[in-house]
Amino acid sequence: MAKPTVAIVGRPNVGKSTIFNRIVGERISIVEDIPGVTRDRIYSSAEWLTHDFNIIDTGGIDLGDEPFLEQIRQQAEIAIDEADVIIFLVNGREGVTAADEEVAKILYKTKKPVVLAVNKIDNPDMRADIFDFYALGFGDPFPISGAHGLGLGDLLDEAAKHFPKTDTEDYPEDIIKFSLIGRPNVGKSSLVNALLGEDRVIVSNIAGTTRDAIDSLYEYEGQEYVIIDTAGMRKKGKVYESTEKYSVLRALRAIERSDVVLVVLDGEEGIIEQDKKIAGYAHQAGRGVIIVVNKWDAVEKDEKTMKEFEQKIREHFQFLDYAPIVFLSAKTKKRVHTLLPAIQMASENHAMRVQTNILNDILMDAIAMNPTPTDKGRRLKIYYATQVAVKPPTFVVFVNDPELMHFSYERFLENRIRDSFGFEGTPIRIYSRERK
Ligand code: GDP
Ligand code: GDP
Repeated sequence: MAKPTVAIVGRPNVGKSTIFNRIVGERISIVEDIPGVTRDRIYSSAEWLTHDFNIIDTGGIDLGDEPFLEQIRQQAEIAIDEADVIIFLVNGREGVTAADEEVAKILYKTKKPVVLAVNKIDNPDMRADIFDFYALGFGDPFPISGAHGLGLGDLLDEAAKHFPKTDTEDYPEDIIKFSLIGRPNVGKSSLVNALLGEDRVIVSNIAGTTRDAIDSLYEYEGQEYVIIDTAGMRKKGKVYESTEKYSVLRALRAIERSDVVLVVLDGEEGIIEQDKKIAGYAHQAGRGVIIVVNKWDAVEKDEKTMKEFEQKIREHFQFLDYAPIVFLSAKTKKRVHTLLPAIQMASENHAMRVQTNILNDILMDAIAMNPTPTDKGRRLKIYYATQVAVKPPTFVVFVNDPELMHFSYERFLENRIRDSFGFEGTPIRIYSRERK
């Protein structure tokens, strides 16, 4: 079963993204500032005490040019559809507004639990300000302060009381889970069909395993794989998918459940801005990534075409420089068979653990080759490094002062680590921490 999902709704400026970031915690601070990658996440996994859950900031869902009220209504509807528990957020400094009432009206229609949180109660003297909000009809309001991190524990305790009784992850560790993401019509469904159709034993076809994807479990050369297929859902005519508003959310949830994500591009049409945004999600989530150029059959080519397309990809997706590129055709099935070995490789690298002593030898060699940067007469000192996590491989470098670690030097260290250990197909993360 999937993890429980909490959605935060409320009109603009009540503090949804502030609360989201607080709840998601440190994970948010590791989001890199890369052009073309949306900085703010709207979907993430989170933990509270013994609970693992997913959280959605509905305020971040882009609903295009809809009028203001229509946007907040739609966001509330998405929360109702997607969440197990809804946090309805209001601003304690402004009292109940007409827009709050609009949100409330939508939420009255659901049977799902709604927890009312009054934000911006920054000190205990302001607690009297929450009483107005009883009028919204969602029971006891929880006073919180996103800015100061107050009251969140009580709020999450309340939310967790309503979590469905489910277990966390759905598949054993050794099964490789992957999903395909990409804008509409790049050929995701065709590729899933091509993969499943290729003389493999489909172990089972678990329709509707989750609300938002169809999982197919199958085996190839002794390795089990699960394809998390969100595109197929849409094809099965769920009304729900008539607009694109859910598709980003759906893709984000599929990414969250995957070890490896295939970013599918249309070789015939080329790369557009939307492709970059979608690819950014996979990178940010820290999953293994493979770039797939589909419809290669439909491209008029000479001996230079592939090289040129590859260059274009590298230019547009600089943040995915670790991702291998596979050119194929779901239609003719040409080179579709190269995909699973690439997925397996990316998955192994995504879970790779390196030896601390070798890591440190490499770092010391790197420092000898390219001295650490200085700032205002102070030089960065690197004491040692250690790998603290896998999926993705995450390293902590202990230094005299993290402020002295410049992006370019971190990049240099990353490249040295990559040159030595491989890590093709997976992002790696490096944090600097002050040695105490
Ligand atoms: P959203 O539009 O609902 O996502 O709201 P934001 O999270 O962007 O917050 C809107 C504004 O309220 C920002 O300027 C925040 O810094 C501020 N804000 C958020 N939480 C608090 C809080 O607990 N106390 C105070 N005083 N300001 C807050
Ligand atoms: P999705 O929206 O990403 O799932 O895309 P579909 O799988 O529905 O494919 C969209 C369109 O592209 C359909 O008309 C497919 O027949 C076509 N298509 C998919 N893969 C290929 C391919 O490899 N070559 C060509 N020429 N067309 C393809």
